[in-house]
Amino acid sequence: MKLAFIGLGNMGLPMASNLLKAGYEVYGINRSKGREELFAQVGGKVGLTVRELVGQVDVIMTCLPMPADVEKVYLGPDGIVNSGRKGLTLIDFSTVSSELSVKMASAAEQAGMNFLDAPVSGGTTGAEQATLSIMVGGSKQIFDRMLPVLEKLGKNLYHVGDIGSGTVVKLLNQLMVGIHTQAASEAMILADKMNLPKHTLHRILSESFAQSRIYDRHYTHFVQKDQFQPGFALSLLHKDMALVKKMADESGAVLPIGAQVERLLGAAKVEGFGDKDMSGMYAYLKENGRRFQERKYFAVFLPMKDAEKSQIFLPQHLAYLEEQRNMGRLFANGRFGDEWGGLVVYIACNEEEVRGWVSQDPYFIEGARDFEIHEWDLVKGHVY
Ligand code: NAD
Repeated sequence: MKLAFIGLGNMGLPMASNLLKAGYEVYGINRSKGREELFAQVGGKVGLTVRELVGQVDVIMTCLPMPADVEKVYLGPDGIVNSGRKGLTLIDFSTVSSELSVKMASAAEQAGMNFLDAPVSGGTTGAEQATLSIMVGGSKQIFDRMLPVLEKLGKNLYHVGDIGSGTVVKLLNQLMVGIHTQAASEAMILADKMNLPKHTLHRILSESFAQSRIYDRHYTHFVQKDQFQPGFALSLLHKDMALVKKMADESGAVLPIGAQVERLLGAAKVEGFGDKDMSGMYAYLKENGRRFQERKYFAVFLPMKDAEKSQIFLPQHLAYLEEQRNMGRLFANGRFGDEWGGLVVYIACNEEEVRGWVSQDPYFIEGARDFEIHEWDLVKGHVY
């Protein structure tokens, strides 16, 4: 059986290398060519385009960063599915939404190909040591047929159910990874403030109920060494938490803490921590601790200036507010029922900061509303 692996990043390169070690012939493709060179050095075949590749192999595996990258590689004009090469088996190890997995699977099926969504957990160490957990959705028959390959990559292999079901389990895993990352980071920040050595905290909590694999990973490999090279990039955890939030919104589930963590990760990403390992949340909180303490609420009234323009630019205004929410700047927003205008409550360190944000709001740029800013003393609020 000949294999191909697209996406030779932090996870893909060690996974594809393990397939080589197991004796398979493996072709590799990566966007940045340096990674392909690394793969060639361990015996991988490189230099083919996706179109050239499809005729050479039986199975194509992918481990790509963002859902848009995954969709392009599978469903783009030069993508795998459009090649029309019947009989291929496709296995996607990336973390995407279950809707995207279903969309790719049905396109693959129509083109006479098989598809499994097979997200993984266990990090780069799991990828290197071939001890990943792999949660698979799709045909049980194809899963069984692919077991000899999957066994070279992971230790815990689960067939969960229909297409997309592997992805649902993976996103629930990521919800807990995100919350545990936040919990561990906050405990370590507070330990610093209380002058408690973090190694003492780690030794004791590792034997207590607060013990967690995520805390152990973050402390041992990153915080203790004061290095935050991924690993698993914070921006990828933010992507996963956004996928979790969307899944929750669509299902009607309420995730008060999960939603908060997603916003914090978004804010850390905007502040330049996206390329650091996810344990960099500790470094972000440490650097921004003072800023957080200084944060206040600002009520921004947006009195009506031009009702017609207000109607026209409403979608842009709401999209802008959503961006602000994702950056952790927005506390609440709404409009008055009597058409007088609206109210947006921002969280910021000072009024100047808020003035800068409001002046970029399409409502203000287009002359639909005026604005007035007042510092607001929040007495009691629902934080989610
Ligand atoms: P990464 O950014 O290190 O690697 C992704 C690789 O894909 C990069 O080398 C990039 O150049 C390449 N790439 C992007 N677009 C491409 C394209 N169109 N064609 C070819 N190559 C392309 O990311 P990663 O950490 O390896 O994560 C990959 C996926 O696995 C993500 O979906 C992530 O959420 C998931 N994941 C990561 C970890 C982890 O610990 N890093 C663990 C579990 C799951």
